[in-house]
Amino acid sequence: MKVAGILERKAKDTLVKAGLEILNGKDPEKSLDKLFAIIKKTVGKSKSKISMSQIDKVQQLYNENPAIHKLVVDIVSKTNKNCLDKFFVNFFANAAWYGIPKREALFEKTGTKVPFTILISPSMRCNLRCTGCYASSYSKKDDIPLEELDRIIGEARDLGVYYFVILGGEPFINDYMLDLYEKYNDCMFTPFSNSTLFTEEVADRLQKLGNVIPMFSLEGFEKETDERRGKGVFQKVMHAMDLLKERGILFGVSSATGRHNIDTVTSDKFIDMLIEKGARMSWYFLFMPVGKEPDTSLMLTPEQRLHLGERVRTLRTTKPYFTLDFFNDAPYVGGCIAGKYYCHINSKEDLEPCIFAHFAVDNVKGKKLLDVFGSEFFKLLRDRQPYNRNLLMPCMMIDNTKQVRDIVKRTGAKPTDEGARMMIEDPEFQKKLDDLSAEFRPYAEKAWKEEFGEKGNFEMSKG
Ligand code: SF4
Repeated sequence: MKVAGILERKAKDTLVKAGLEILNGKDPEKSLDKLFAIIKKTVGKSKSKISMSQIDKVQQLYNENPAIHKLVVDIVSKTNKNCLDKFFVNFFANAAWYGIPKREALFEKTGTKVPFTILISPSMRCNLRCTGCYASSYSKKDDIPLEELDRIIGEARDLGVYYFVILGGEPFINDYMLDLYEKYNDCMFTPFSNSTLFTEEVADRLQKLGNVIPMFSLEGFEKETDERRGKGVFQKVMHAMDLLKERGILFGVSSATGRHNIDTVTSDKFIDMLIEKGARMSWYFLFMPVGKEPDTSLMLTPEQRLHLGERVRTLRTTKPYFTLDFFNDAPYVGGCIAGKYYCHINSKEDLEPCIFAHFAVDNVKGKKLLDVFGSEFFKLLRDRQPYNRNLLMPCMMIDNTKQVRDIVKRTGAKPTDEGARMMIEDPEFQKKLDDLSAEFRPYAEKAWKEEFGEKGNFEMSKG
């Protein structure tokens, strides 16, 4: 479907050509200012919603903050050429810029919002047996067939989605994923992996592909990681990191953060170790009360949840390392991003608004993505945004618990797992979540006033 204007396509080609010349020039570090100038010139001429002030802010941070400056220079100077080129073209030029006017044009034409990124769980199978995880109960027949994955990614790419996060199960359990990464070589892929299937051959293939940035799951150092994932897993992650660092492949870390490991995964010692190993970023997720047996006991206390946000903001400006906090960064993106900037297709092909919100009205089997993105469920999720004027309480499930119950009731969305069913049907569980939200509220209100001056990016709230 040709929805992007010729002007945008031409502008993108100009940006890519100039950007690659700079990145591959004699002294890319010295030329980065030139790259900013070209980006501003291109974006200024286009219909993209990215504002000049946003780019100015990024440039200012790059110029004035030594840690951020070092991170950018390290990425540019130490990343394998093919991987750096693909990161620039596929992620920046295609996903973060060219995809926007393409998706906006589609919205004007059809009234349907297409998300920035799609998370896909091709298989729930995994080679590990982690505590509290049920991946071992799935078989190959539960996987999304290759032809169907191919269809989903191809259709999404035509709609302007160039960034895919691959989850599971273990994303490297199916070799055919590597063939799909190769086929869609104008898109960027981020598989969240346990690392244990990484070999020299896999690393060589990833270097050749260039469009894959793996995230390795770590709960902390050896003790915390092996306690949950099994003996020897931490050392395997370290080995996988070495394989990627040697080849100049970009990678990061994802940490599920709970009461037991927050101090470890946000410590200077842990982050310094990851930098030393060659990782460039960490994504922090809260332990959520979801899954077959939802457990609230590991969830962060109110103080810990806010402390995670403070630490992430501090790390981001003091270490040459990028950190993202799925919850506490909500003020920067207008609140919850479910169903508007991203969505999740589970291994049964149910279309869920987010990786933790296990509710669906549609299954994508045999359906066009454009039709399912326009569902009443996704529309209502966007219309209700932000669920709370305090963007430190963005979530419909743990912060604004009545929202999920009401939205599900109004749209007929069905729970796709037990935790989700309990969220809408089990009074005892609902009370537990209501109490946790009430407990968090006064802390969140104080932080929202004192740290954010009650200001957030509300412009992005509706997507
Ligand atoms: S529903 Fe909750 S967990 Fe999902 S994206 Fe929104 S805030 Fe995050």
